[in-house]
Amino acid sequence: MTKYIFVTGGVLSSLGKGISSASIAALLKQSGFDVSMLKIDPYLNVDPGTMSPLEHGEVFVTADGAETDLDIGHYERFIGKTLGKGNNFTTGQVYSSVIQREREGGYLGQTIQVIPHIVDEIKARVYAAGKGHDFLIVELGGTVGDIEGLPFMEAVREIRHENPKTTTMNIHVTLVPYIAAAGELKTKPTQHSVQELRRIGIMPHMLICRTEIKLPSDLKRKLAYSCDVDDDAVIEAGDAKSIYQVPMNFLKEGILKPIAKHFELKTIEPDMDQWDSLVKHIIAPKDEVNIAFVGKYLELKESYKSLIEALLHAGAHLNAKININWCDSEKIEQEGAAKIIGDSSCVLVAGGFGERGVEGKIEAIHFARTNKLPYLGICLGMQLSILEYLRNVVGIDDANSVEFDKDTKEPAIYLIEQFLDTSGDEQIRTYESPMGGTLRLGEYPFEPKKGSHLEKAYGSGISYERHRHRYEANPAYKEVLEKNGMVVTGQSHGLIEVVEIPDHPWFVGVQFHPEFTSSLQKPNPIIFDFVKNGLENR
Ligand code: GLN
Repeated sequence: MTKYIFVTGGVLSSLGKGISSASIAALLKQSGFDVSMLKIDPYLNVDPGTMSPLEHGEVFVTADGAETDLDIGHYERFIGKTLGKGNNFTTGQVYSSVIQREREGGYLGQTIQVIPHIVDEIKARVYAAGKGHDFLIVELGGTVGDIEGLPFMEAVREIRHENPKTTTMNIHVTLVPYIAAAGELKTKPTQHSVQELRRIGIMPHMLICRTEIKLPSDLKRKLAYSCDVDDDAVIEAGDAKSIYQVPMNFLKEGILKPIAKHFELKTIEPDMDQWDSLVKHIIAPKDEVNIAFVGKYLELKESYKSLIEALLHAGAHLNAKININWCDSEKIEQEGAAKIIGDSSCVLVAGGFGERGVEGKIEAIHFARTNKLPYLGICLGMQLSILEYLRNVVGIDDANSVEFDKDTKEPAIYLIEQFLDTSGDEQIRTYESPMGGTLRLGEYPFEPKKGSHLEKAYGSGISYERHRHRYEANPAYKEVLEKNGMVVTGQSHGLIEVVEIPDHPWFVGVQFHPEFTSSLQKPNPIIFDFVKNGLENR
């Protein structure tokens, strides 16, 4: 029978509810349990894929092609497991499926209401996500008391009512602020937030208390007493040097004891040896490497979350600190690549959409290619490396992507209108297709060419990586590229996946997004190889 842990947030947002949930999941997974996770987002958007990365951070892509909230990325990175479409849903999705069912006559003319219909739909999705796992950790977005969150809280209450008491647990992540002028930690906000939870019918069994300074034991006891949780179930969560340190900190706080007690398990003993040594490499690394990270949305680093984390994972395994030199592609256009990239050891051009900053990215690629710096181009970074090569080596000055010039005479990056998606279904996209839902999304296979960097990283045979893009490298240019020294080393269903320049120490462009499959314990192979080469090139 699946055990459910519901994680709610109190007082204010940004307390690290996602990292807390993922940390508990990591500890349980390292103890040998089959753990899965679910994020419930209270916003009304049906499709997180069309939300602005500037407002919302990165759009994460699952293996089965769902565009999700970036928290799903944290979950995968912490539990090293592939999640899917069913592991994230929004209020918008819940309402739209209930309304669709009503339109189709599925409710036989009943009056459709929040209770029971919306709440039933939420519960069905929670049960579906938990099916077959030992534990499902459910993170409820937002803060207790939010109007949008009420149907989810009601679902948590009903799930608790429908199941044996020892199969559901409520954990509340809250803030214990330190008031400097009074020199005191304050418990009142937590008490109020727990009262609000109880008003909806949810009793927390554990408090995770975000705090800037250490919680004295009498204060913990006071919190336990006033909020009616066991004395050992008040867990301190101070600021950590790395998010990956949080599971270790929770372990030291004894978080697993009350969890074991609640679920009537004898003991829960995680094996955290490797994890601990990786965290040590992140906090006190032996080496360091400077990576030029060329991108456009540099105002909000959250939009490159998975990529930053993937670099960090590689660094942890190489015992090296990752210093990111943020290079704004528009600044490169104004001031030149040499000045902005400076003495970085390697160059990364990340994915992106739209024409802004593209010429600066091409300049950065030119700089990396001609100065023999290790180069990794991801998605748009791969497409632009083809354009750079065609323009500057092959001599096709007008080589372009139809994304930037719809009528270009040399469409080296073009739009294929028909392709087979992850489930083998035919997809159609045209210039008139809406942006939402017409990207190539999710995992596709590729087979590395013998002797390539790709093969060295992934091994021979078939591997899979995830995609999120509209345009493709045009195979009509494959021959002229290869004749001139840029080689296609990976293909997927006849589409160009990877290009390399054999006459360069390490130059790789990948159409896929390798950052989505990296986890702390298992860094992504091509990103690892890139960082390793950067380190060697110091
Ligand atoms: N804009 C390009 C495309 O749509 C690349 C997308 C990306 O880098 N994710 O194909």
